[in-house]
Amino acid sequence: MNAAPQPEYHAQERWSPDRPETLVVCCSDGRYHAQIEEFVRHEVSERADLFAIPGGPACVDPWTSSFDEARVFDQAMRLFSEAHDLHSVWLIAHHGCAYYALKHPGRKLEDVRALQVADLRAARARILAAHPRYTVRCVFAALVDDVVVFRDVGESAGAP
Ligand SMILES: [Zn+2]
Repeated sequence: MNAAPQPEYHAQERWSPDRPETLVVCCSDGRYHAQIEEFVRHEVSERADLFAIPGGPACVDPWTSSFDEARVFDQAMRLFSEAHDLHSVWLIAHHGCAYYALKHPGRKLEDVRALQVADLRAARARILAAHPRYTVRCVFAALVDDVVVFRDVGESAGAP
């Protein structure tokens, strides 16, 4: 893509000691990261903590992922909540997630999406059980042509 790597790169963005107040839990899928970052900056935070793992919010609940994955998330969550001024968590699932495709082969896209939304809500319930004062937002990143559209799919928002 570009020339040989340089021994140093100086980031344009200045570092800030302010503690993040929002944790974003999303899939590792790099095709969505620029849009997720843009969405988070636009909606709330310059400096969100980021927990990116295949399947994203599926990892929160052992019943929607595995006990190993949920344990890793629990440990990270403990650190985030103790070391940072966290008061909100955003759970972002995305269209065409390979984690779901591998776990549920042959399922129709709309069935997988319904499953992802149910998993987002299960994840929110689990986080709220441990951290009742947090605000937890459930978001689905849909793909409309080549535009990523973020929709709130929390219980009050109805179907995706
Ligand atoms: Zn994914």
